[in-house]
Amino acid sequence: MSRILIIAVGALAMTSVALGDSFIVEDGAPLAEIIIAEDAPRMTRLAAREFQTYVEKIAEAKLRIGSAPSDEFPVKIYIGQSPATRELGITSEGLEFGAYRMVSGEDWLVLLGDDTDWRPPEPWARSNTDWLENKQSEWDELTGAKWSNPLAAGMYRHYSGNAWHFETEAQEADGEIHIWEFDQRGSLNAVYAWLRELGVRWYMPGDLGEIVPKQSSVRLRQMNRTVRPDFEVRTMHLAQYHSRSRPDILWSLRLGVNDIPSILHHGIRYVTEREEQRTEHPDYFTLINGQRDTTSPTANACLSSPELLQENVRFVRTIFDLYNAPVVSVMPHDGFNQICECALCDGKATLERGYSGWYSDYVWEYVNRVAREVAKTHPDRKLLCGAYSTYRFPPEKIDKLEPNVLVQITNGRPRWEMDEETHNQLERLRDEWQQRTANPLSLTMNYPFTQRGEFRPCYFPHVIARGLRDTQGQVWRQDIWGPIERGVLHRPGVNHLNAWIHARFMWDVEQDVDELLSEYCRLFYGPAGEHMQMFIEYCEANFDKLTKQPETVNRALSLFETAKAAVESETVYAQRLALVDDYLEELRKRKDQLNRPRDDVPVFSAYDLTRDKWKEAKAGFKLDGKLDESFWVLQAGMKELINGRNPAFGSTFQVVWDGDAIYFGIRCEDVEGAPANVSTTESGKPAIWNGDHLEILLETDEHAYYQIVVNPAGAVTGLDRGAPQQEWFSWSPEAEVGAHIGDDFWSVEVRIPVTQSTDDPLHLVVGRKPMQDLPWHFNVCRKRIRETGTEVSAYSPTGANTFHDASKFAKLYVR
Ligand SMILES: [Zn+2]
Repeated sequence: MSRILIIAVGALAMTSVALGDSFIVEDGAPLAEIIIAEDAPRMTRLAAREFQTYVEKIAEAKLRIGSAPSDEFPVKIYIGQSPATRELGITSEGLEFGAYRMVSGEDWLVLLGDDTDWRPPEPWARSNTDWLENKQSEWDELTGAKWSNPLAAGMYRHYSGNAWHFETEAQEADGEIHIWEFDQRGSLNAVYAWLRELGVRWYMPGDLGEIVPKQSSVRLRQMNRTVRPDFEVRTMHLAQYHSRSRPDILWSLRLGVNDIPSILHHGIRYVTEREEQRTEHPDYFTLINGQRDTTSPTANACLSSPELLQENVRFVRTIFDLYNAPVVSVMPHDGFNQICECALCDGKATLERGYSGWYSDYVWEYVNRVAREVAKTHPDRKLLCGAYSTYRFPPEKIDKLEPNVLVQITNGRPRWEMDEETHNQLERLRDEWQQRTANPLSLTMNYPFTQRGEFRPCYFPHVIARGLRDTQGQVWRQDIWGPIERGVLHRPGVNHLNAWIHARFMWDVEQDVDELLSEYCRLFYGPAGEHMQMFIEYCEANFDKLTKQPETVNRALSLFETAKAAVESETVYAQRLALVDDYLEELRKRKDQLNRPRDDVPVFSAYDLTRDKWKEAKAGFKLDGKLDESFWVLQAGMKELINGRNPAFGSTFQVVWDGDAIYFGIRCEDVEGAPANVSTTESGKPAIWNGDHLEILLETDEHAYYQIVVNPAGAVTGLDRGAPQQEWFSWSPEAEVGAHIGDDFWSVEVRIPVTQSTDDPLHLVVGRKPMQDLPWHFNVCRKRIRETGTEVSAYSPTGANTFHDASKFAKLYVR
């Protein structure tokens, strides 16, 4: 598309000269006025204002905005539909999903698209308190049920102003035009496209992020074109409207994104999660060890329950009817790692397919059953489920999904992997899913969450461009999740580039990414542009090595230093580089850590249970803490934490690897008759630190590091030490513990599942099988607490009164 356009623009530009050169601004004097309809929608009014703002920034002339043309200005800029555009025969007909028209004549320009205002259906919450105190009971009364409703409860989050002021006199008292995220915005897209052709760029939120070329005259360029995006729905979770950060909201608009009012993730939880449902319908929940799990925050559903199915169908129909949503999710709650053990669910798992296929048939069969019911009343609406975690692979027993089912693949194209293998593998996954549905796919993409501990420079222009090009025509929705903190883009100085590349390519996949990137570097970093391009390209090509190879980190940092040296301080370029510089602090610390020799730490080689010789032992394996399987050869012991001497109460352990989990077997010697001080029997409780406990600290090839705490009663707690401190406890290892208390010892067997998928940073240990050339690092520590004193020991003593010294972690690989 782009090549044809360039030719067209070139030809028309010449005609414009021939037509006698109309000007919008000539030598600083305004020659045009902006005309909108008297009762113009919100987005039309915003589009007119954006046009006015940027023409003023470019040429220092402020154009008048009005609904009645005056005689004062010869040129008319018509923005959005109005009587004048109808007279010209230019309408927004057929312009969906943000598409727009740009048409001009000798002394006029039309920029328009569909600008339909969104009106939230009642009941909807004006604030969180409003939901809890007023609207939830209205919703309950309407439905006669006890369901959550994330769409209505969170509606206020999608409004750029105070939601209480919506449709009141007060709504624009601050001088801004307030908008809904679901407002249509074709005319605004047309205005931005027109401004981009003048050279305006919005790379990052705020003034520092934009490029505005100054000129004293602005010509009325001749054009006649309709532009449609390459993807219908282009959702980027960049700015939350609720944060009311005007620069961030405007930035997301300038990127040309859109969204639909729907429930698109983990839809089943809204039927089950409320306390009333947990109490009244325990049979909706997974049966684990003879008990229905109605207590854990992400308690999962028993997908064989016929009553749950009926209630889910009623929920979906209600959201369709009351909120006019086009799509509703029927996806399990997050952390779906344990299947229900009831008689009806028995035999539904396919564990032999591996983690990504464990519950594929189980989950997708449920989705299909809900879909068949819903289709009887709402054949035109869609249900959606994610191809995610334990149901990521397509089901084997379902040939075709129901025609009203949409598949949403989490990370269904590479995010930062440059290698062919990953591209091909994901292409195969998309192909396999497409064979099971006649509908286009939706892709949810998670980019590095720098607010949750990612510290590498995150630049993926080539991977993004290729991924979007590869999926055009197969995908109706791109749903991009990036780092957000307090409603705005986290570390904007680094994280803006991926968003910009996404934005441009979602509109037109045929662009040249190298041209786009070098233009960006030149305009944004000035004299440092060439070096920044080298830095960005190097970081993209070596992203995975930036956590483990000191020479790669050194090279990246030195490329950046060269870029920094090219700019003069106090310039706008220096300010932009300073944001990157700041972000790189963590990488510099990491470099020091990587460069620190770890030669003096112990090396542990774990048994590999996937080998044939362990087949029999594995088959009889019981996670009961007794360590009676033949592979529990307790080959390593612990020493006193500070001085490295033998402790009064010794401990020994073994580590084994089983493909998708790592196991620790640990035996703790103690006094006869009272071998254990148990402070809690419940998992996830801080009380675990008040009694005897073990700590397993795991730094994988992918993440530094996880802390898993277990005690003699089998209670377990997990922390992600790589995340910011306030988020340590948001992570869960989903570990299972078997514990045994003997006469003069206690022992545990700990199963820690390991995934290679980085989809879900809040669950599971992420990493690849530890190998000799790419080991993990770890420590196993014990704290024995008695009234008579505390003894602290570890496999690799730290020499200080703490377990948390990663430089002392031992090496771990699977032999
Ligand atoms: Zn069940």
